[in-house]
Amino acid sequence: MTTSADSPHTALVDTFGRVADDLRISVTDRCNLRCMYCMPADGLPWLPRGDILSFEEIARVAGLLVGLGVRTIRLTGGEPLVRRDLPRLVEMLAGLDPRPDLSITTNGVLLGGLARPLADAGLDRVNVSLDSLRQDRYEAITRRDDLERTLEGMEAARAAGLTPVKVNVVVMRGVNDDELVDFAGFAETEDYSVRFIEYMPLDADGRWTESDVVSAEEILDTLERTGISLQNVADTNPEPATRFRISRHETDDTRGEIGVIPSVTAPFCDRCNRIRLTAEGGFRTCLFALDEADLREPLRSGAGDGDLEKMIRRAVRGKWAGHRIGQPDFERPGKSMSQIGG
Ligand code: SAM
Ligand code: SF4
Repeated sequence: MTTSADSPHTALVDTFGRVADDLRISVTDRCNLRCMYCMPADGLPWLPRGDILSFEEIARVAGLLVGLGVRTIRLTGGEPLVRRDLPRLVEMLAGLDPRPDLSITTNGVLLGGLARPLADAGLDRVNVSLDSLRQDRYEAITRRDDLERTLEGMEAARAAGLTPVKVNVVVMRGVNDDELVDFAGFAETEDYSVRFIEYMPLDADGRWTESDVVSAEEILDTLERTGISLQNVADTNPEPATRFRISRHETDDTRGEIGVIPSVTAPFCDRCNRIRLTAEGGFRTCLFALDEADLREPLRSGAGDGDLEKMIRRAVRGKWAGHRIGQPDFERPGKSMSQIGG
């Protein structure tokens, strides 16, 4: 774990010695899909447009945070690519000093047309969420018919140099847990990096139960039982994913990569370096936080950078040790995944 002892004096350090240097920015709460584990079929009441931070407001907060040691910025949502003119925001963020590493988490549906403009604006790479490789199942999970467009979007991302393209798969028991081997094969043949994510209690419908979660351990056991050999990738970055190169027993060649993110069964809270800015300007120190600091009001009423920094530091100092999923006192946050920005 990084501690305050080896951090610059400006760094955002919490009371457990964790340094916050990874920022998620949600640019919209809207989405063009309706994934069953995230949104209700009819969508959610969207934020009024005036409540959403402008690009200038986002860039101001991001600039302040980069000055306080943030090194990586990931844009998310809702679906970030439905926010009009997104490459302009990427260009503004790429112009920050020091320049942060810039990535996006997207469902990929609109990537076909946007991969190149985003890369030209300075985006470094993308994570694409894709929970099934089967047409009918993709439709059942997302409630939309966009599998082909998503696959094309991923290709466009690779062609635009937004690599490595990482594929996020939320594994749900009885829904898509029979596709683990297919996804490993997909990682191999397409040379993508597939990450299996444990299903978290952040669905808007509130249907999540612990028995729906397929643990990272179970995922790895299943893969290894089918003759896939996984070679651990040593990782020095504080990453929640445990990563493996894929090889077949009969050969030493590896191609493609899989990772598991045990957000529920073995969370990386004690190494968590994340902070979040919601679409309406809420500053959060955890996905599961029950409260957030409102930065929009001060941003719009003339607060100086020093005032904003004080609010941010206070929030970071208040970051808790970790989420309590599975504990008797666990309380779901009032917002669901697309409203927070996953
Ligand atoms: N719309 C974009 C997308 O789907 O990639 C970005 C926003 S989405 C909320 C961010 C990530 O959260 C996606 O990878 C999605 O699969 C994941 N996610 C959403 N709800 C989840 C849940 N209940 N448990 C685990 N992951 C979830
Ligand atoms: Fe939209 Fe992403 Fe949520 Fe799916 S996971 S509904 S694509 S925000």
